Amino acid sequence: MTPDPDTIVALATPSGVGGIGVVRLSGPRAMALAEAIAGVDIRPRRAAHRRLHDADGMVIDDGVVILFPGPHSYTGEDVVELQGHGSPVLLEQLIETARRLGARLARPGEFTERAYLNGRMDLAQAEAVADLIHARTATAARLARNSLDGALAREIEPVAAELRQLRVLIEAEIDFGETDLESAVAPEVAGRAAGLAARVEALRTRLQPARVYAAGMRLALVGAPNVGKSSLMNRLADAEVAIVTDRPGTTRDLLRANIAIDGIPVELVDTAGMHDSEDEVERIGIERARDAAAGADLVLEIRDMARPDARAALPELPGIPRLRVWNKADLMPGTTVADGLPVSALTGSGLDALRARIREQAGLADGTGERFSVRTRHLEGLEGVAAALGRIHADQPPDLIAEDLRLAERALEELLGRGDHEALLGAIFAGFCIGK
Ligand code: GDP
Repeated sequence: MTPDPDTIVALATPSGVGGIGVVRLSGPRAMALAEAIAGVDIRPRRAAHRRLHDADGMVIDDGVVILFPGPHSYTGEDVVELQGHGSPVLLEQLIETARRLGARLARPGEFTERAYLNGRMDLAQAEAVADLIHARTATAARLARNSLDGALAREIEPVAAELRQLRVLIEAEIDFGETDLESAVAPEVAGRAAGLAARVEALRTRLQPARVYAAGMRLALVGAPNVGKSSLMNRLADAEVAIVTDRPGTTRDLLRANIAIDGIPVELVDTAGMHDSEDEVERIGIERARDAAAGADLVLEIRDMARPDARAALPELPGIPRLRVWNKADLMPGTTVADGLPVSALTGSGLDALRARIREQAGLADGTGERFSVRTRHLEGLEGVAAALGRIHADQPPDLIAEDLRLAERALEELLGRGDHEALLGAIFAGFCIGK
């Protein structure tokens, strides 16, 4: 038996000064604590304007209290929200009061972990909460939002149902003690397992592109000075996120910007002036630029159509795709390029084609219609299911077939966190922030 959970408390809003701040409590003593802090007779699920007191009855603040009795709460336990003025000092006093009254500080992700443990959501939904909070683009947020509705579970439910049927078939035969004889159902089970493996593989292929919305991609811009790297960078960025962050240091430092291109979170690294040099400081800068390019998903080699000789030294980077982009096409009307894409950061011509190439590199063909967020863990889980199913052959003894079906089922259960996977849970919830 698991011991009674304790009552946890955390700041649910970002730390710092704000209009309001929310302290959240969850656990068996949450209601009693709310009473001690905010007084009695608060109607559940209604905002109540109250004085908030410390453990000695002194007024800390006045604010809004909302009670969410379990099991219909975020965590499935009794949950209380105390909304006070957004002062770090006052909010800290509220948290301290809750602790003095018996609550303890929540670990990162512990509210969501409890929601999962109490069956309020499956593991993919819990991950979606984190993905939603950390979403860097509106598209990423929309996909995570859809995952919260249990989209992954719906996709894999038919697979789980078919797996169950296959296990029933083979295990019924084993139970009748005919394992020494030629299996009567093995050919059927093996045939259906192969079909199912193909379906799982197709599902994985279909889901894979969405991963980039949570994981993001890294683009390195390489080119000689003044070919228009910064101008292109600003042109490429969606309006939704265009925070150009200049790293302090010299112009030889890397310039990084987190932008969005068609909803994909992209880290752009401008490898400022990657030309061969004798100068020591510059040499270090170039080394760094090479490192940045080496970690990129795509290197954009930027050239100037009006100055075709202006080029940066670009080392061989095996395995990293590279695209040559000829900028300032507006200066050379009527000129065609033999290799790469002509664009103009000034007029915007060619940029749609460039965006399409970037999307393609991210694995997003046009119209694939990603519907929910996907993590590497999910893709690996599906791979595990397909691999186990792929091992099944008609001429195997039934108990071996049954074993691979069980492995496939376990891999599938792990995807949604059904069954016992403590290490996995620890790893997933550690990625949350406190208060969620
Ligand atoms: P960087 O040093 O590679 O980052 O280049 P910048 O983006 O600072 O651009 C260098 C100069 O080229 C600036 O004066 C820009 O206005 C100009 N420039 C950039 N892109 C274009 C373009 O597409 N057409 C024209 N005509 N000028 C451009």
